[in-house]
Amino acid sequence: MDVVGVDDEVLSLPLRQDSFQALWDNVPPPLLECMYTEGGSWPFDLIVDSSINVEELFPEPPAVYPPPDTPPTPAAPTVPTTSDYAGEYGFHIRFQNSGTAKSVTSTYSVSLNKLFCQLAKTCPVEVLVEGAPPPGAILRATAVYKKTEHVADVVRRCPHHLKEDVVEHRSHLIRVEGSQRAQYMEDPNTMRQSVTLPYEPPQLGSGHTTLLLNFMCNSSCMGGMNRRAILTILTLESSEGQVLGRRCFEVRVCACPGRDRKTEEGNVEKKTEGTKPTKKRKTPPPPAPVAPPKRILPTSSAEEEDKEVFVLQVVGRKRYEVLKQINDALALQEKVKVKQEVHGGPSRGKRRLGDRTDEGTD
Ligand SMILES: [Zn+2]
Repeated sequence: MDVVGVDDEVLSLPLRQDSFQALWDNVPPPLLECMYTEGGSWPFDLIVDSSINVEELFPEPPAVYPPPDTPPTPAAPTVPTTSDYAGEYGFHIRFQNSGTAKSVTSTYSVSLNKLFCQLAKTCPVEVLVEGAPPPGAILRATAVYKKTEHVADVVRRCPHHLKEDVVEHRSHLIRVEGSQRAQYMEDPNTMRQSVTLPYEPPQLGSGHTTLLLNFMCNSSCMGGMNRRAILTILTLESSEGQVLGRRCFEVRVCACPGRDRKTEEGNVEKKTEGTKPTKKRKTPPPPAPVAPPKRILPTSSAEEEDKEVFVLQVVGRKRYEVLKQINDALALQEKVKVKQEVHGGPSRGKRRLGDRTDEGTD
């Protein structure tokens, strides 16, 4: 059988860990042809080695996500992407440092990546690019619910605030202030609302363009956001609607932005400082590692063997509690034993205890 040349072809195939089917699909037709005889049968015997684990040889390929550089499709996605993407124009945003004073109407927390603002108050967002985007580029602001269970819902204003407003785009939560060129849109497929503004290069002597945003409902508005956290997605797009860059930040619209920012930043700090031991009682035990009992210390002596740490997998909370009690009891017994040894035996310890009670009754 003449299979000369096959090796060269194989070497030119893409090197990747895919399923056999995927690999097979990649075999170019000329190679397939030379591997079959005229009768359509295999030119060689296939020897199946049962000791070979096929799954080990061809593990499941990892889930493939399009790399961030993939040109996005102009059609609006059902669930908007919320990952930051600087793109080839180095698109990013910045907020003014407004602090956490009581009077502040809009303040941004870097550590939380969250904007705290009052209803309908001006929120300046500084837009920066490293390279000039193509002419006709626009900025788009879209709101989306942060939590997965809410993400399918479209963010809109509450009925109360909607009724009070008279403008045509009154259902839009996010507004652009100070520009007649702002356009309010609703995607006909997803019904998601967004506002766009032509991208303007920074004015002479300035490194950024400022975008003025307003949020027209409180996060707590009943029938609207209803206390659900939202994210604002800011995209730089070409005139054809292609995303050139994306930035995302959380927004809380509330009465006291300064206070709320301070509180939330404090909560995160407390969490990271480690108040976990007290919290542990409420939360169920962490799932035991899947690994079999592991020996941490080498068994060189009987004493050392006693100090070995084993991990036991337990199914069910009840059984875990029972086993934990036994373990705790054994640990306590061990402790008492050590104490008695230190104080010179159990008999002396008992006597002492008796003495003390006598003293107490006197
Ligand atoms: Zn409202």
